[in-house]
Amino acid sequence: MTAMNESLQTQTLGFQAEVQQLLRLMVHSLYGNREIFLRELVSNASDAADRLRFESLRNAALLEDDPELGIRVEFDPNQKTISVIDNGIGMSRQEVVDNLGTIAKSGTREFFAALTGDQARDSQLIGQFGVGFYSSFIVASRVEVTTRRAGLPRTEGVRWISTGESDYTIETVDRPRRGTRVVLTLREGNEEFLDGARLRDILRKYSDHISLPIRMPREDKDEKGDETVNSATALWSRLRKDITEEEYHEFYRHVAHDFEAPLAYTHSKVEGKLEYTSVLFIPAHAPFDLWDREHRHGIKLYVRRVFIMDDADQLLPPFLRFVRGVVDSDDLPLNISREILQQNRNIEAIRSGCTKKVLDLLQALATGEPEKYAKFWSVFGRVLKEGVIDAPDRRKELAKLFRFSSTHADDSGETVSLADCLGRLRDGQKTIYYITAENLATARASPHLEIFRKRGIEVLLLTDPVDEWLTAHLTEFEGKPLQSVARGELDLDGIAGVEEGAGAEQDAHPELAARIKDALGDRVREVRASSRLTDSPACLVADENELSRQMQKILRAAGQTLPEQRPILEINPGHPLIARLGAEQDAARFQDWARLLLDQAVLSEGGQLEDPAGFVRRLNSLLLDGSRAGGKG
Ligand code: ADP
Ligand code: MG
Repeated sequence: MTAMNESLQTQTLGFQAEVQQLLRLMVHSLYGNREIFLRELVSNASDAADRLRFESLRNAALLEDDPELGIRVEFDPNQKTISVIDNGIGMSRQEVVDNLGTIAKSGTREFFAALTGDQARDSQLIGQFGVGFYSSFIVASRVEVTTRRAGLPRTEGVRWISTGESDYTIETVDRPRRGTRVVLTLREGNEEFLDGARLRDILRKYSDHISLPIRMPREDKDEKGDETVNSATALWSRLRKDITEEEYHEFYRHVAHDFEAPLAYTHSKVEGKLEYTSVLFIPAHAPFDLWDREHRHGIKLYVRRVFIMDDADQLLPPFLRFVRGVVDSDDLPLNISREILQQNRNIEAIRSGCTKKVLDLLQALATGEPEKYAKFWSVFGRVLKEGVIDAPDRRKELAKLFRFSSTHADDSGETVSLADCLGRLRDGQKTIYYITAENLATARASPHLEIFRKRGIEVLLLTDPVDEWLTAHLTEFEGKPLQSVARGELDLDGIAGVEEGAGAEQDAHPELAARIKDALGDRVREVRASSRLTDSPACLVADENELSRQMQKILRAAGQTLPEQRPILEINPGHPLIARLGAEQDAARFQDWARLLLDQAVLSEGGQLEDPAGFVRRLNSLLLDGSRAGGKG
């Protein structure tokens, strides 16, 4: 043996800094729910079996002479050990270093950022971020992993040992059996787990849905051999009526790596030319990478109960990327790859079917459990809105699911549906009105709402950036157009309760409008009398066919250069300031007044002034004028 070979034999390696931090967390603060270590180890064993089964489709030799995949759990009260053994894919030496010494997943930083210091919450995060193996150290003072990758010779087994502090040792060993054996030596105080009944309970509680048999040695003195402690059938292949809520939740935890119960789920079997079963879950909270549209997400794909891949993103459209679950089909080739997935016509049909299932589920939730739906909406509403662009053919169904703030909802975050809004249309009202703004406060205070508020006409308050796109694509609901209150000419004629020609002062002051336009020059495209305003002196509007002012703001903030779109300034002829302006003879002062009017219209919609210092100067000078005039009088 050369020196180099020897050093390869046994090495002591340090854990990645994040792992050390994680381990400290496990050992010192996550003892709230200690039994989860077993779920994590069994989950890994099950994944390892899934992967072997999948690889063996192409290379049957990997199964060696041991084709029956399974998991075994043993314990030894004398040694104070618990072992979880699988004959799955196993790991090579390099894989052990990569998987059990670092956190390979990109989510680690997010994981640490998400930690709150609240023990209960933080322990829930662990599974979500895929750091399950290390949970062994919640109960164990020493963990020994012996493994051999399927396909490698028995001389290339690996033993990994750690006490969960800063490092671990790794050595190459002889290992006749393929797969992995994890042996935990329990830390003092965890003896309760050295009990067959307790372990069986935990296994049934968390791992019943695992489709592999989980075996334990029989406790019965007279009978020898193993017994299977879980039901060992894929959950989705069982009948819905035979599956309890708790089992669905456990299954969800396994597939979604989420410790919080799902908000809702749907389980269905589609029969006919194309057969498939799906179990789809709506999580109760957002994953950390929800906004990353490129991130693969979602659904596990099985073909005839054989695991094919995680995160089969073709099975649902991007606007449903928060959905988790499994799809199992008998009608896909076992050797299907991601590339084929994109072109396969059956996949297309499954995707469409799953989309429908999820939308139906959401609709049922919205109707049957509005409070849950409100929770869903607050977490995922913004993602769902992308659907009007992703899936034009689903607009109708989606529109029913949308919720918005409204002048007719209270301040507490209450939202309304388009159908609610439709129900409140006034006789003769032909359009559903909305306003877009940066936030609710700005929307509510907008001068554009004045006439609507006065007449009691509902206006939806849209404050998500995505709402600008939404309204560009969703232009009507059940035959009623959606119209911005800040765009084009406003025509409230014909709406019951609004007197004919409300705001008929439209052309009442053509000379004043023309004078203001002269004073403002190129800053505005047009100045006209408004029918929107009752309390404010002025507001800005955009034309029917140009980008809304809010959209322009968003795009500019995102660094886009847009052709200049000069606004239309609408003035309120009934306002004393406008009357006063009309009486102003001094040309310089008139100019200042006009600029102030424009600037305050910009401010009231949450906009930024081109020349804030100039605004302050003009304002102060007019205030001084006013106080002097007041002093004189
Ligand atoms: P996750 O299961 O979310 O990937 P874990 O911390 O539970 O995270 O496991 C880390 C990695 O270690 C796994 O992704 C897998 O590659 C490897 N691993 C853990 N247990 C086993 C096992 N029994 N057989 C094969 N590989 C395993
Ligand atoms: Mg795991």
